[in-house]
Amino acid sequence: APAAEAKMVKAVRVHELGGPEVLKWEEVDVGEPKEGEIRVKNKAIGVNFIDVYFRKGVYKTDLPFTPGREAVGVVTAVGPGLTGRKIGDVVAYAGNPMGSYAEEQILPARVAVPVPPSLDFKVAASVMLKGMTAHMLLRQCFKVEPGHTVLVHAAAGGVGSLLCQWAKNLGATVIGTVSNEEKAAQAKEDGCHHIILYTKEDFVAAVNNITSGKGVNVVYDSVGKDTYQGSLQCLASRGYMVSFGQSSGLPDPIPLTDLVPKSLFITRPTLMQYAATREELLESAGEVFSLVSSGLLKVRVNHVYPLSEAARVHADLEARKTSGSIVLVPDC
Ligand code: NDP
Repeated sequence: APAAEAKMVKAVRVHELGGPEVLKWEEVDVGEPKEGEIRVKNKAIGVNFIDVYFRKGVYKTDLPFTPGREAVGVVTAVGPGLTGRKIGDVVAYAGNPMGSYAEEQILPARVAVPVPPSLDFKVAASVMLKGMTAHMLLRQCFKVEPGHTVLVHAAAGGVGSLLCQWAKNLGATVIGTVSNEEKAAQAKEDGCHHIILYTKEDFVAAVNNITSGKGVNVVYDSVGKDTYQGSLQCLASRGYMVSFGQSSGLPDPIPLTDLVPKSLFITRPTLMQYAATREELLESAGEVFSLVSSGLLKVRVNHVYPLSEAARVHADLEARKTSGSIVLVPDC
């Protein structure tokens, strides 16, 4: 067989772990799709905090690599023998494999889901990973029902904004924490009944006050180190701690016996486990897309940057300067 032709595209590459400056804008050869694969020209790329963990080495992968785990694009090539996919299809993906910070990338066809034609590319690229995460958290890790009180940390963030809106829709009383007034205003619009500026006030005391000492049924904690201990203190009897990230650093371990007085539950989920099969993926993405299409979930695409400026975006995300979702576009 003839040697596969090179297909050169621009991509953001990481050759060494470190700060935002290690993100380099380079040419790479993405090649041709093999059996079971497609090549996708990315139209909108979702930025997620997990991209920061990989860049810093909090989560490990081999060097060099192209970061990014969420994108929407158009199929430009289909692997040999693959049926049900054609050039021109609009598809979205989130999770594995890494490599969406690129003009084009190769994907296993099984991770790509069709995007409803009514959805804007940037909107779709904002809700694949973040929306499916919200689905996992609210519908699977702990099923939120009317009457529940939930605490959402980083309520104005990408995942946080979706969590607040969705939890309110499910009939819960939503308490959100944010770092400043601007983010507080957004969280209020997203349905938070109570907002705590956790950079200014003690959020444990505030939750205690809001719930008249009862505590909350569930905490969705993505902040980690700075909030973890306090989050456990906010829980009601038999409450659920859903620890799903560590934007402020890895939380310190706690003894199991700390859970005894209130018979608490702790789970540390990852979307990779909850959208692992094709059925789970289609179910989760389908529910998210339908909530967005019907207007029940408002997607806040608050930051749009050229793909080549990924370093600047990472710096802003880590400095807590962003809210809602961040999207990179290859040609803007
Ligand atoms: P966000 O938009 O939520 O950005 C992070 C936010 O965390 C900041 O805006 C900030 O909000 C808050 N924060 C608090 N302390 C810090 C700190 N020291 N440094 C930086 N940020 C801080 O990001 P995403 O929506 O992309 O992700 C949210 C979280 O969800 C992440 O922790 C991510 O890892 C996790 N996640 C987990 C998944 C899973 O499968 N387990 C899947 C997807 C996301 P404020 O200024 O209001 O404090």
